[in-house]
Amino acid sequence: MGNIKSENSLLEDLIKKAGGCAVIDGGFATQLERHGAAINDPLWSALCLIKSPHLVKKVHLEYLEAGADILVTSSYQATLPGFVSKGLSIQEGELLLERSVKLAVEARDSFWNSIKKTSGHNYRRALVAASVGSYGAYLADGSEYSGCFGPNVTLEKLKEFHRRRLQVLVEAGPDLLAFETIPNKLEAQACVELLDEENVQIPSWICFTSVDGENAPSGESFKECLDLINKNDKVNAVGINCAPPHFMENLICQFKQLTKKAIVVYPNSGEVWDGIAKKWLPSKCFDDDNIEGQARQWRDLGASIIGGCCRTTPSTIEAISKALREK
Ligand SMILES: [Zn+2]
Repeated sequence: MGNIKSENSLLEDLIKKAGGCAVIDGGFATQLERHGAAINDPLWSALCLIKSPHLVKKVHLEYLEAGADILVTSSYQATLPGFVSKGLSIQEGELLLERSVKLAVEARDSFWNSIKKTSGHNYRRALVAASVGSYGAYLADGSEYSGCFGPNVTLEKLKEFHRRRLQVLVEAGPDLLAFETIPNKLEAQACVELLDEENVQIPSWICFTSVDGENAPSGESFKECLDLINKNDKVNAVGINCAPPHFMENLICQFKQLTKKAIVVYPNSGEVWDGIAKKWLPSKCFDDDNIEGQARQWRDLGASIIGGCCRTTPSTIEAISKALREK
């Protein structure tokens, strides 16, 4: 039991060390594209695990330099059925999932080993969160933003979809699990039940997205979703990812009323993702000049883990990190 307690306090310890608010990294695919990776594919950034693992590591290092306390692995859209549809065997797919964790751990260790020798640095040893993307991310039809998986998708089906990937990721040795872009209560329930059934011993967070700034994409209230998660001690934090920044203020206030768990927010840049065309529709919502003020506001409202999702960059994370280090 002692072991469970120490594992569960890992995230809390990091938040404490960070002075009350830890920083997550930012957009992964965005940054990979900047380095010339072609990722217009249903497997999206997971494709880089096959083609250019050195770029994956490079992006992790860029976020560490920017001040990220938590690295999210490149496994968001990496799924076994996805890899199999690319002609890989299950075993090869499992090795790629494992690789996503190993690359982040290697980046973290090499960065930390070099930085800890320099005096007066302002960094903390980062944690590695294994990304578990929504079933909708695997479908690659934008359903992680609608919450509509169709009538045939049951709780059992969602659990079976997530189970083996979860096992492989946990075995690869991340510090925590990050369920991301969850669009409805059913998938949240699948995640929670899996954590119990698989007896997962590392901390985890469950993040929803939102398209109206008020509810889960399915239209279900966050109260319904969080009532379910609150009962489970294996989930350490809940929050929102990949929704526009201007939703955060309201959603943090709402979550603060609904849960005692730590609140995590990592919005996208505010540009709009067209899940069918698989591209970002240009729109100017993200105010890079004001990200510092926003990050401080979110912290003051009660978020204790803050970062960026799609289209945010190391400069976004550097700004957030700097803002949160100033009291
Ligand atoms: Zn995103």
